[in-house]
Amino acid sequence: MSRGILTVISGFSGSGKGTIMKALLERHQNYALSVSATTRSPREGEVDGREYFFKTKEEFQEMISKNQFIEYAQYVDHYYGTPRGYVERCLSEGRDVILEIEVQGARKVKEMIPEAVLVFVTPPSARELRERLIGRGTETMEVIESRLSRASEEAAAMKDYDYLLINDDLDQCVEAFHELIQSERCKMERNREFQEKIQEELKEFLKGE
Ligand code: 5GP
Repeated sequence: MSRGILTVISGFSGSGKGTIMKALLERHQNYALSVSATTRSPREGEVDGREYFFKTKEEFQEMISKNQFIEYAQYVDHYYGTPRGYVERCLSEGRDVILEIEVQGARKVKEMIPEAVLVFVTPPSARELRERLIGRGTETMEVIESRLSRASEEAAAMKDYDYLLINDDLDQCVEAFHELIQSERCKMERNREFQEKIQEELKEFLKGE
């Protein structure tokens, strides 16, 4: 069985990546979404082990010292990290794994795993982003301001990504995301074994003639 594709999706807070991920997982079966660990408090409706594994700073530091993260980063006063075990297991079972992480983490993943596919999602405009953050109603104005200023910094990292997804129409965005991951399977560099196999087979045929 071929190994799954590892995809990283990043985007400004409020870009809609959570909604895209939810729709993708509902529509297509082969995806596994990695659940991160974080030191931030749960928002209303968030469940430990579903949105995140909520950890104390001490617990998080212990996981770092035991090398249990593929990557971790600090984002607006809190730590976030991708637990290694689940991701490795899913990839070796041939499932396509998606990491929904911010830009520093994405960069670290690409350095360690160059075949990872990096996708950056953004709303069509900055004004739309601000409206979505306010409309979400889960954060104070102060937090919204700090997320917008972070977005401005993150925009500089977009150029290091492989693909850009503009989240205007949700349905189109989800299908474009699905298609770009699946077309990765056809990349020549992911199919070296097949290339060698068919070359050998052809040689055998020629010998037999
Ligand atoms: P939020 O607090 O809004 O859930 O997430 C804040 C940011 O942290 C988002 O950009 C999210 O993608 C990112 N994030 C979530 N999990 C991880 C992780 O495991 N590693 C890194 N580097 N970033 C993460």
